[in-house]
Amino acid sequence: MSTFNLNYELSMQPPDVIRREQERLLNEHVQHCKLHSPFYREKLAHLPNRPLTLDDLKDLPLTSKHDVHERNEDFIAVPQRDISDIVFTSGTTGRPCKIVYTFNDVHRLGYNDAVGFKSTGMNAEDIALITCTLDRCFIAGLAYSTGVVLLGGAVIRNGLNTLESHADIIQNNKVTAIIGVPSFLAKLGQFLTDNAIDLSSIKHILCIGEPLYSKEMQRTPLAQKLENFWPDCVYSTYASSEMVTSFNECKERRGGHPPADLGLVEIIDEQGNPLPPGEVGEVVVTPLQVQGMPLIRFRTGDLSFIIPEPCPCGRHTPRLGPIFARKAQMLKVKGTTLYPASFFNVLEQIDAVDNFYMEVSGTGLSDEIDLYISFREGDMESNHIREKLIAKTRVNVRLHTVTPQEAHKKVFGSTRKPLRFYDLR
Ligand SMILES: [Zn+2]
Repeated sequence: MSTFNLNYELSMQPPDVIRREQERLLNEHVQHCKLHSPFYREKLAHLPNRPLTLDDLKDLPLTSKHDVHERNEDFIAVPQRDISDIVFTSGTTGRPCKIVYTFNDVHRLGYNDAVGFKSTGMNAEDIALITCTLDRCFIAGLAYSTGVVLLGGAVIRNGLNTLESHADIIQNNKVTAIIGVPSFLAKLGQFLTDNAIDLSSIKHILCIGEPLYSKEMQRTPLAQKLENFWPDCVYSTYASSEMVTSFNECKERRGGHPPADLGLVEIIDEQGNPLPPGEVGEVVVTPLQVQGMPLIRFRTGDLSFIIPEPCPCGRHTPRLGPIFARKAQMLKVKGTTLYPASFFNVLEQIDAVDNFYMEVSGTGLSDEIDLYISFREGDMESNHIREKLIAKTRVNVRLHTVTPQEAHKKVFGSTRKPLRFYDLR
């Protein structure tokens, strides 16, 4: 197996240099899939035997999450002795889906995040506090940690520990970067402020799992909260266990770049046709240089768009906009189409709201939406929740009050990311 090349500057090269390298890597990737992945050996059997260009990408077959779950073992492209890390994601089929990584893949993941962290200005002087888990089969935690180390920085893996514990570390060490889930980081910012702990050494807040912009490229209320604690320090990053390619915001902090040599991104419409920059569709990623479980044109199920303007940072890689919704979370209410974020963004702006989650049910043309809310002070009526939601969404949903304990259990109980959307359809 070849060893992995680190090429930090590729994204800054002229577009034709990037294209040549990406075409070389795409051909290598497709060859690896054809030779070693039983799934793709079958899918690509009729592929003409000539070098591919980037323009040929759109003609390669798409791969859905369902494919990966349904034919799980057929995606593994290396013998067992070459596998070094195994994780499981929740399956669409009811049983957990296995994703495997070779030693090179783990190294590649570290490099992937190192490229992203470097683009935010992080370097060997940085001390990064990780507030998300490194276990529970969360490959990203390991990737962040390896990324900081590859960059020459130091990492403090405090994981899912208490606010007090993180605050103690921040107070007694010159922590310069924090990696975590935005809703937790907002709580941490509040806790540090309430306890008069100095926030000024922290220059990088790296946010995972929740978007910082709305579809209209407005900062979400949650991002605004983080900005108040750490002005101009908040960065978004987006990735998944399957696509193993991170979209990290650069210093411009307006959309995330993938490392040029690790992933190709497309946006497609309902029929699977590629869409031009600026148009909203499903994010499709072809990760490059993957050994263990290589994927071609992986449909993420996430909705976003490519920002049409070139990035002032000088990178000649596309910029992916915010993941403002998951395709599967689309709500249909009496002919109107909307996403849970429309409701959640309203609730996040109300200080008296402690926590919330949504349940969607129904089998007909119109979905039944139940919104469960816990309060810090007041109640549904005194906080004018119904009026505020209708003003923003034009939709009247069923509202329920729950205790903060009930809401916390539902939202943070079972997963490593906050889970606010329960689909019972
Ligand atoms: Zn940029």
